[in-house]
Amino acid sequence: MSQIKYTVLITGANRGLGLEFVKQYALDGYQVIACTRKINKKDELHQLQENFKAISIHKLNVANFSSIDLFAKSFKKSIDILINNAGIYPDSSIDHIDYKIWLDAFKINTLAAFKMTKALLPHLKKGQLKKIASLTSKMGSIDDNSGGGEYLYRSSKTALNMVMKSLSIDLKPYDLSVITLHPGWVRTDMGGPNGLIDADESVTGMKRQIDKLSIKTSGQFIAYDGKKIPW
Ligand code: NDP
Repeated sequence: MSQIKYTVLITGANRGLGLEFVKQYALDGYQVIACTRKINKKDELHQLQENFKAISIHKLNVANFSSIDLFAKSFKKSIDILINNAGIYPDSSIDHIDYKIWLDAFKINTLAAFKMTKALLPHLKKGQLKKIASLTSKMGSIDDNSGGGEYLYRSSKTALNMVMKSLSIDLKPYDLSVITLHPGWVRTDMGGPNGLIDADESVTGMKRQIDKLSIKTSGQFIAYDGKKIPW
């Protein structure tokens, strides 16, 4: 394994796309800060850590903003890449809306990505790569919405897109670039068994887009395969 050069922080790192990001960045020789809301020493993340000592596991519920502040305060190193991956997909339709869960969706899918970015800005400014990637969804695209429904998930991801677009503008003076990524329809717990691709293919593609990200391309909404998605 090559010498550690960069540090990446990933939220929702215990399963699905988050776990795959941990795996691929660890294989690439990154220091991986894997954040998970539940510590389970028997899970796949801990098994992975046995083989990659450069993975460190931290308990972090992104819906708990004071714990994000505490984490940021206690974390003393710089961060090169922040990946806001944690997310929830509560089902909803015009006849089935739970307003409390709608607020939870906004808190986890939208506000938490902003809060993580804001709290970790000092660490990102000190990093060498200065990149922020947030996992959104094509379901948050207003242009692409031909199916309707899914009010909770769609609206929380549309809002995330707008938040990330504004951050891409506000953070330009600090040389920090921002990308909003659609992972494809992926076979994870969230995507289900009928997804079109597996986590390996999705993360390989998203990692490539993060590699290509620069201050010139900051603020884009693109898919894992590099295709631009209409807002
Ligand atoms: P999964 O449901 O498989 O995993 C979600 C991850 O987010 C889990 O690790 C979960 O942790 C974590 N999480 C949820 N809430 C919190 C919280 N409050 N604090 C910390 N972690 C939390 O989803 P995927 O891996 O498929 O999705 C990852 C991202 O990609 C999401 O943002 C999703 O919206 C997006 N996406 C996925 C698609 C797909 O087809 N799979 C398509 C489009 C977008 P825990 O185990 O504790 O619940």
